[in-house]
Amino acid sequence: GELISNTETLTVENLVKHYKGAGGAVVHALDGVSFTVAPGETLGIVGESGCGKSTLARLLVRLEHPTSGRVLLGDTELTALGPRAMRPYRRRVQLVFQDPYASLHPRLTVEQTLAEVLGVHGLSARGAERSARVTELMEMVGLPSRLRDRYPVQLSGGQRQRVGIARALAVEPDVLILDEAVSALDVSVQAEVMNLLVRLRERLNLTYLFISHDLAMVRHISDRVLVLYLGKVAEVGPWREVSDEPLHPYARSLRDAGLVPDPSRRTPAPMLGGEVPNAARPPAGCRFHPRCPVAEDRCRTDEPALLELRPGHQAACHVAADAATVSPI
Ligand code: SF4
Ligand code: MG
Repeated sequence: GELISNTETLTVENLVKHYKGAGGAVVHALDGVSFTVAPGETLGIVGESGCGKSTLARLLVRLEHPTSGRVLLGDTELTALGPRAMRPYRRRVQLVFQDPYASLHPRLTVEQTLAEVLGVHGLSARGAERSARVTELMEMVGLPSRLRDRYPVQLSGGQRQRVGIARALAVEPDVLILDEAVSALDVSVQAEVMNLLVRLRERLNLTYLFISHDLAMVRHISDRVLVLYLGKVAEVGPWREVSDEPLHPYARSLRDAGLVPDPSRRTPAPMLGGEVPNAARPPAGCRFHPRCPVAEDRCRTDEPALLELRPGHQAACHVAADAATVSPI
């Protein structure tokens, strides 16, 4: 049913994920990330590949465990729950992957895929009730009923992603984590799926974490945007400020990357030179300093703290902090 019951804030506290990489080096996938997402809010999370976005998603749905730090839904500390106690919470936070093709069973039809999830979670009786719920879920995500008996290989990319979304919604979650959920789709299909996600959010009062490498893609759907760089929060604030007047040089380069003349050509901006450094050897001081166009000497040694530079808008940058102090906004 469509009970509007989502009333709990998702809280991420000082989340750290280190793991052993090649040659025994410690990879700093996440290094002390904190944020909250209010019920019904959409937090966009942006950064290049290798900045920790997918690790964060996997920690939030407990596909992985953090090295330290906490994840809470309301007052419940999810990271402290054992497998049995976690079971009811598994339903409440759902992950939608970039490539649903990889996660849809190739030998199950659309109907069987959705019926299986309902069965596993004991959410509807067999027979007519389950069949009616499958119809409802397909209608919810705009899948025509004639696709009911199709296999994944017989569906378009957009249709497969709608099945992936329907499968996540089948368990009536409060929080959907969308990890590059529309990035692989054609531009016109992206727009359709984005519009669908907006409608579903309103209809079902869902909380979204909308993860993408593309700031231009997250800006319109997000209430706030958080920019990750090498496992740390570089900037977080209201979507319009972060996307139109970013404070952190890395966020500025992401904004400029979205301003390419041909919107289908999403390449890194010329100013964003080089690649994300290896997370096994994060640079000292500010992790962005080797690529930062305005880096100063102190940036190589002193790590900038994440500070509130405008109301509800934080950034971790020495130069941005000085500018905000000299001319308070
Ligand atoms: Fe650039 Fe220094 Fe700011 Fe880091 S702290 S983003 S290196 S100016
Ligand atoms: Mg990723």
